[in-house]
Amino acid sequence: VEQKIQHLALHDTLTDLPYRRYMERSLVQALAQAKMSEQQVAVLFLDLDRFKHINDAFGHAVGDELLQEVAKRLRLAVPPQATLSRQGGDEFVIVLPALPSRAEVGRCVDQIAHVLRSPVVLGSRETRVTCSIGISLFPDDGLSPDALLKHADMAMFQAKNKGQGCHQFFNARLDVELQQRMALEQALHEAVQAGQFEGHYQPQVDMVTGRIAGAEALMRWHRPGLGWESPANFIPVAEDIGLIPILGAWVLEQACEQAVRWLQAGLPPLRMAVNVSALQLDQPDFVQTVLHTLQRTGLPAAQLELELTESVMLHEMDRTHHTLDQLHAAGIAISIDDFGTGYSSLSYLSRLPLDKLKIDRAFVKDIDTRPSDAVLCRTIVAMARNLGLHVTAEGVETTAQLQALTEYGCTHYQGYLFSRPVPATQFAVLMASQVDEAIRVRQVS
Ligand code: C2E
Ligand code: MG
Ligand code: MG
Repeated sequence: VEQKIQHLALHDTLTDLPYRRYMERSLVQALAQAKMSEQQVAVLFLDLDRFKHINDAFGHAVGDELLQEVAKRLRLAVPPQATLSRQGGDEFVIVLPALPSRAEVGRCVDQIAHVLRSPVVLGSRETRVTCSIGISLFPDDGLSPDALLKHADMAMFQAKNKGQGCHQFFNARLDVELQQRMALEQALHEAVQAGQFEGHYQPQVDMVTGRIAGAEALMRWHRPGLGWESPANFIPVAEDIGLIPILGAWVLEQACEQAVRWLQAGLPPLRMAVNVSALQLDQPDFVQTVLHTLQRTGLPAAQLELELTESVMLHEMDRTHHTLDQLHAAGIAISIDDFGTGYSSLSYLSRLPLDKLKIDRAFVKDIDTRPSDAVLCRTIVAMARNLGLHVTAEGVETTAQLQALTEYGCTHYQGYLFSRPVPATQFAVLMASQVDEAIRVRQVS
């Protein structure tokens, strides 16, 4: 009985792994031993990727089940002398004592990736799980348990920034980066309150007529004292801190309102493209939000296009399929953004209700100088056409690029050659000048 009570006091009831207190004790011991034998000790801080999302989407019972399964697999991954503990939530800490070299850590990291690789069955669903791992080493990164844990935690944060399923060794530079990151998070929260965002619009041009056929709404953040901050920097952070549903809904609303305002001003109708993040699509009420926005603003569904990236298509295939079907049925166009840079699974292209591919700038950039990029662009255009999809090339900056794309049969483009993303008033001027020109041409003929 005494043993059982001891065990319960030091172990987590859900996963039966030791608690933080137990881990700290073994860390102290490992450090004492390592000092005498001049060996290293590694602290690995693990955090599951997208766990909050799974918890929110499937409920806490499923979340608990997942944690149990992960704990079971991690037990198989760590060497016998290691201590594996649950830190709380979806965080785990592994202490690797008496390490002869850094390479040992790499082996353990590989082992963890290996055991997590196979899908986890949760009730009737199957999901895949990855984790981000931060690593600190005694004595290089700290001499006390506190310092080592703090630095492993910071490195984990950095690993998350690299993407899912990554690991990162601590280095002192991280400290500065972490401070900056925390300042950015704080500033983003304030920016939402203070409404420091603005939609800019970039024309999508019909290559045959040379006219504006659509607009892509691109978010801009006017950061006080720092000027315009690029969405490439702040969207991923906004995703991490849960601001994307608010920001995404805001952009959608702004873009639809703007398109209606242009219509009311007598400008010709155009397709408004709005970027959608994976986290938005996962919201159970996403379709509802979009349809309500159309209703509220009065924009016809046929004038709205949603841009998704390839990775979104492959994540939770069935659910995504269902969501896209509903949007498509309502008359909204779906396009794939940055095509060719994500997973290269092509099966979804024919299965999902898609309307358009956007060739990523990476392939367009050297289209006129690198034969392999030219071949890729040509092939993407041909494939899209055979599948009955429209193609828009992104990031067209020179006439040479435009010429090559025209030759390959691409029908639309977007890029600095025609216009950078501009504020709404400037966009209206661009459109109006085309209308004027059309009237002039008609009068002359
Ligand atoms: P994206 O959707 O692929 O947007 C195209 C990016 O390429 C934009 O960068 C645009 O300014 C830039 N671009 C367009 N033409 C050219 C060109 O000729 N040359 C070069 N060098 N760049 C060009 P931006 O505005 O910085 O946006 C970056 C990314 O941030 C977007 O990539 C999109 O993924 C994301 N983003 C922007 N606004 C939103 C939003 O409202 N919601 C979400 N979820 N993501 C957004
Ligand atoms: Mg886009
Ligand atoms: Mg793009």
